[in-house]
Amino acid sequence: MPELPEVETIARGLNQRVAGDVVESVWLGEKPEPLKSPAREIAAVLERAHIAHVRRVGKHIVFDLERPGRNGRRSSAICGQWIVHLGMTGRLLIASPETEMAKHTHAVLKLASGRELRFVDPRRFGRLAVVRRESKSGAGFAAPGDEPLDSQSERFLTLFRRRRTPIKSALLNQKLLSGVGNIYADESLFRAAIRPRRRAASLTRAELRKLHAAVQEVLREAIELGGSSVSDYVDAEGREGFFQLQHRVYGREGEPCLVCGTPIRRVIIAGRSSHYCPHCQK
Ligand SMILES: [Zn+2]
Repeated sequence: MPELPEVETIARGLNQRVAGDVVESVWLGEKPEPLKSPAREIAAVLERAHIAHVRRVGKHIVFDLERPGRNGRRSSAICGQWIVHLGMTGRLLIASPETEMAKHTHAVLKLASGRELRFVDPRRFGRLAVVRRESKSGAGFAAPGDEPLDSQSERFLTLFRRRRTPIKSALLNQKLLSGVGNIYADESLFRAAIRPRRRAASLTRAELRKLHAAVQEVLREAIELGGSSVSDYVDAEGREGFFQLQHRVYGREGEPCLVCGTPIRRVIIAGRSSHYCPHCQK
């Protein structure tokens, strides 16, 4: 499952490669699951749209679309957005038309540059949707929670300080922060020296500030590592090239803590595995 840093890396890679291109036509497969908007609506918003920008919002990849204005000039009006959620196994591949269509291809966008942008998803948890926008100021797609990399320390404190749930569950609550997944929640809590089961409301302001810094640090490091492998990911062969952040606790149950040597423990919180060091984390 791609997490926020992977989605950020993919969005940046796509932006480098397809921003400025124009969607000439759209083919959609027959499987209904990937389509969160009606097929006709998706085609109507995408066809003949100019791809202005590709960026990440939460764990979604958002393509900002513009309509060519009169006399062929680009109008500055954003006409809509194409929103892609990769789910568990979704991929966006840039391919030449001769490249054989992968099994489980659910969408193909033919681009004016001659290339194709394909959405492939064997398990079909990925989702494609469109949003129409009349102007730049019109309401576009927004994730339900705060963007973790933009959130300010004071805002972070306000979001978490009164929560009665374990801090781990609060970090995973997408209505609070958008896009923090299980791995990065565990790694952030380790760096902030906070046990995942602690109630959010029991954390001091100093601890919450430390956690806020840790969340941003972990995500930024992972994005930096992913950034060097962008071209591999969106390549037509679908090679996966992420350098993973070295996990300090996630997936290391029973292995020695890298700081103190105590075996890492695993507990289940709200149905999710949580990993922590019983010595370093309080
Ligand atoms: Zn330790």
